[in-house]
Amino acid sequence: MGPANKRGCRCSGSEKTPGGQEPMGLPRGYCGLCVVCGEPGHIRHHPGAGRFTGTWCDFHYRVLAFTHPLAPLGTFLWLTVVASAIFAARHFVHY
Ligand SMILES: [Zn+2]
Ligand SMILES: [Zn+2]
Repeated sequence: MGPANKRGCRCSGSEKTPGGQEPMGLPRGYCGLCVVCGEPGHIRHHPGAGRFTGTWCDFHYRVLAFTHPLAPLGTFLWLTVVASAIFAARHFVHY
């Protein structure tokens, strides 16, 4: 047992409503389908951009939090990618 709804999604609300709307025949314990892989997941706020809400499975939510440019670690990763791209471009142009 844990907190009813740590994710901030819609699960806890719908579970207590017998005969309430069941979205898209989702399995019990899920409130949406992942926009990346289509697996059952949860509707929640974007880990990087708080204003954006989407649906992700636990796996892709973690991936998103890790790689998104707005996430702390994602920013670092993107800077690395950009830096290496610039380096590669300079190396390519230099002749
Ligand atoms: Zn997914
Ligand atoms: Zn949920």
